[in-house]
Amino acid sequence: MSAPSQIPNPAHTLAESMLSRRFGKETVNYFSSSPINRLSFLRNDHPFLSSALKHPSTQFLLLNNLAPLTRSPAEVYYAKYDEVRSLIPNDTFDQSEEELIKGFDSRKTHANLIFLGLDESRKEGSMTHKIYTGIPFFAIDVTPKGSAAQQTACKDIISAMEEKGLSFFQTRVISTFTPDEAAIYAQARALMDWNTRNTFCGTCGHRTLSVNAGTKRACPPTDEARTAEGLPQDRPECNTRTTLSNLSFPRTDPTIIVAVVSADGKRILLGRGKRFPPKWYSTLAGFIEPAESIEDAVRREVWEEAGVTLSRVLIHSSQPWPYPANLMIGAIAQCSDAAHEKINLEHDPELEDARWFEIEEVEEALRIGTSDLSSGAGPEYKGGLRLPPETAIANQLIRAAVNADYFQSERSKM
Ligand SMILES: [Zn+2]
Repeated sequence: MSAPSQIPNPAHTLAESMLSRRFGKETVNYFSSSPINRLSFLRNDHPFLSSALKHPSTQFLLLNNLAPLTRSPAEVYYAKYDEVRSLIPNDTFDQSEEELIKGFDSRKTHANLIFLGLDESRKEGSMTHKIYTGIPFFAIDVTPKGSAAQQTACKDIISAMEEKGLSFFQTRVISTFTPDEAAIYAQARALMDWNTRNTFCGTCGHRTLSVNAGTKRACPPTDEARTAEGLPQDRPECNTRTTLSNLSFPRTDPTIIVAVVSADGKRILLGRGKRFPPKWYSTLAGFIEPAESIEDAVRREVWEEAGVTLSRVLIHSSQPWPYPANLMIGAIAQCSDAAHEKINLEHDPELEDARWFEIEEVEEALRIGTSDLSSGAGPEYKGGLRLPPETAIANQLIRAAVNADYFQSERSKM
């Protein structure tokens, strides 16, 4: 029996619309389509956050060095407020954001606490704020660090959880959670990682303060710790205070990933990284550079890595990839002429190999030969090609390139 599909359902509830009739249902990728309404406009509403934090239905996703607390590799364990309250100061969210910034003291450390949103699909025992009803979700960092008291609280929570038989799931890329849990975890991991890497201001180098329920970091103008050292309370000037600087917002790095189809529509271009397991190939990918369109980035990457010149590029779907902050923008592209299909690996030596595969061979691999990059093919595998699992957008792009109507109707004419 094969495992249930890990691909989430499209967020649009009815597939029937002029757009969906023309272009079909949206393709949704693993780590996207979260059940949580992020309610980003309530992230500075501290009375709301305070009641969400202490509500009996509230779920806390615990991260220890970014590894999520789980019951098993397939199931997240959500803690209750009582299980983590030793790590959360009692007056959290009592003051407004402005007051917190004003009273900033760089000597005090707190565990990162992130409001993820409300799961509005669950009403039982849920909380209501204005017109919003659902179960609040937070992520909290239990990595032992910061003040001695914070470290002790973290260690105590970790031991208490491990005594219950729970564990922090350490793995390179998670692909075993249900689609809903994968999306919640992706949001938590990406934001926690960004907070952890940005404890100092990128402009002036001084300590920052988590605000907006863990989704922004401020560079406060004053610091109580300076007064204690006999210095003026004002910190040196910093541009992030006067301009809408990107420095204090979480980053998302756009990346292109593309399934390339030959001019006759009968072959697909795939590449092999140097560290891939045997027989394993995937779609080509790379970062979008500053001042570059998605389509231009696709053409540049494919030419740089494989020497192939592309014609039309079609944006297909996207996938958040929280390792650490990528947004994979998936495309399907085609060469317009057989002369443009010649492979040359000498421009950028990133790939160990790139090759055109017949559609039939790719179809067979999609049927019998997909696996995680870490697992690879066992010696019993008799197929010629291995491909990424369905939780990777690469798999969805290859599938679309193989199945797409626009290629099949053309192919049947040949
Ligand atoms: Zn600063």
